Amino acid sequence: MTSIIETIKAKIDVVEEIGLVVALQKSGKAFKGLCPFHNERTPSFYVFPESQTWRCFGCNEGGDLFSFVQAQQGLEFRDALMYLAEKAGVPVEDNSGRSPEEERETSAVKERLRKLNGDALLWFHQMLLRSKDAAEVRTYVQNRGISSETVVAFSLGYAPDRWDALSSYLVGLGYTEHELVQAGLSRRRDEGVVGSGGVYDYFRHRLIFPIRDTRSRVIGFGGRALGDGQPKYLNSPQTPLFEKNSVLYALDMARDAIKQAKQVVIVEGYVDAVIAHQFGTKQTVACIGSAITEKHIQQLKKLTKQVTLALDPDAAGATATEHGIQEALKTFDRTIVPVPIGSAVAVNNGRKRHEPRGIIRLEEQVDAEINVLQLPAGQDPDEVIMHTPAVWSYAVAHPLPLVDYYFTVKTAGLNLREPNGKTEAAKRLLPVIGMISDRIKRDAYLRKLATMISMDERLLHNELQHMLRGQKTSSVVAAFSGSAGQERGGRDGKEPALADAGSPDWIGNAEGEAEDLHRKQSQVQGLDKRKAVKLQWEDYLIGLLVQNPGLCLHVCGIINHGDFAGTDTRELYHILNSVYQRDSTSLHEPLEQLVPSALLTTVARARKSVESRSPLDGAGQIKAAVQCATRLKRSWLLQLNTELQYVLRETKDAAVQQHLRLQLLEVHQKLRTIDSATHLQG
Ligand SMILES: [Zn+2]
Repeated sequence: MTSIIETIKAKIDVVEEIGLVVALQKSGKAFKGLCPFHNERTPSFYVFPESQTWRCFGCNEGGDLFSFVQAQQGLEFRDALMYLAEKAGVPVEDNSGRSPEEERETSAVKERLRKLNGDALLWFHQMLLRSKDAAEVRTYVQNRGISSETVVAFSLGYAPDRWDALSSYLVGLGYTEHELVQAGLSRRRDEGVVGSGGVYDYFRHRLIFPIRDTRSRVIGFGGRALGDGQPKYLNSPQTPLFEKNSVLYALDMARDAIKQAKQVVIVEGYVDAVIAHQFGTKQTVACIGSAITEKHIQQLKKLTKQVTLALDPDAAGATATEHGIQEALKTFDRTIVPVPIGSAVAVNNGRKRHEPRGIIRLEEQVDAEINVLQLPAGQDPDEVIMHTPAVWSYAVAHPLPLVDYYFTVKTAGLNLREPNGKTEAAKRLLPVIGMISDRIKRDAYLRKLATMISMDERLLHNELQHMLRGQKTSSVVAAFSGSAGQERGGRDGKEPALADAGSPDWIGNAEGEAEDLHRKQSQVQGLDKRKAVKLQWEDYLIGLLVQNPGLCLHVCGIINHGDFAGTDTRELYHILNSVYQRDSTSLHEPLEQLVPSALLTTVARARKSVESRSPLDGAGQIKAAVQCATRLKRSWLLQLNTELQYVLRETKDAAVQQHLRLQLLEVHQKLRTIDSATHLQG
């Protein structure tokens, strides 16, 4: 049975899909163009029709049809799947628990509500531009510095100060009162309060900011009160289209700029966002409601790893900033990074532990850069942007790193000359310093703290080491490939869980074992032998990880999800690993809840792959998983090697050639390291 993913890939050509957004020109058997993921003048972005893959040799992004759509549109796998399935005309079932009939009905309702929102938007916009009633709000817009181009670009509107102007207009267009209420544009009249029965407008006497989803469809509205109206900001209520906690205002207009600037600036209000765009900081979005949520960050992390918070400078703003930081820290992926254990750590409580060379400690690091915009005291972003644009641009380009921000915030109100104040400052700031992954930076901040509270740096250093050792992750000590590891693994080579791990050409050797799967796989178009065999190892590795998620710890230092050749296995690894790294306990939930239903057949296949082999004990599992991961990495490097050689032959530019040669050298080095490590292991 061919999977949905394979069906989609068979129907949509990667060259055509990428060709929609990148101007591609033929280059030998490949196509090349300017990379959409980084700025460049000479093309280093290649699409390979044969393997249906793409790669940029400038910024090292690469993958298949799905990863392109995910990266380019900033979508989660599930949404990319929906998008591509719709395009390919392949029905795809979503495991949200609804039957197909219910699904059809909900999407019909949503479609109707979108149309309704579209009609409301036009009406609001026309009101602002032409209505006599809107004279006051037009003055307000002007006074806030919003240009008429911006009014049009953001389709700003006006809800007049009348009870049912919009409602009766929409009813006149044929919408029912029920639909108006469902869309959050009208409210039902309470009997006896305002007349009897019927509906009245939800937004009255407000400047209207239409809120769009990432596909630029209007899903709700925000209304700013004019004069002293309360509340100051009123947003659409929760509707089938509008989920307040997950939408970011102006994200549809900011998306490309965020990717280009490699930064997103988050402001608090609609006006701040609109003004920021007007003055050229187009990577700006606003959170709707006051809190930044995990869902906001989930959307942003696909676009950039640099989040800059520019929330209002008042006390509420400070709380919101802290909250935003915590959500961002929680939501961004964590990478577990191997850090060599220095001799200072091996000596613990005077007891000298004999630790072999090359033993490392695994540390958790947040895969993001979070910082805070520093604005002149007491000024809101829109004022700064308008009155002192240079100050704004400088602040955007040089935001305050999170750690520096904490240095200020966490020591506010402490008397750093008093012993108590010093101890408290150290207690509050050491955990912050401990989060820094870069050792040089970490030492620099340690020095800064030492100077700040005039304390001996070595003392603080010891305290920090002590603290880090106490953490959960630091107790995980693992042997890493190369110099260590073999000491435990045994050199007798009697227990190879997988045959021929050490052979320089494992693909050839593994074929016997892969035979029967290969027979099935070869029916799938375009899959050559090598890939089929590789996919088999991917299934096996996923099977092992499903059986024992703890194995993630042992493979995540070797591979990342980009090393997988299968779209399904790649996404499964991504899900398993990121869930494991974030919160290993949630993997006790049934996998069916974590994984899109389109991937469940792969899970079953992966489980079978493990069950068909003889059962392994803990150490055997680790060894098998590490070997699988190493095979995948090696195979990926071989693929990269082939591509680099090809591109090198096609390239005329000397500087580019040089760059490619360096990459090739690096690939060869990595291959040699893997080969010598697997040789020792075998
Ligand atoms: Zn690139």
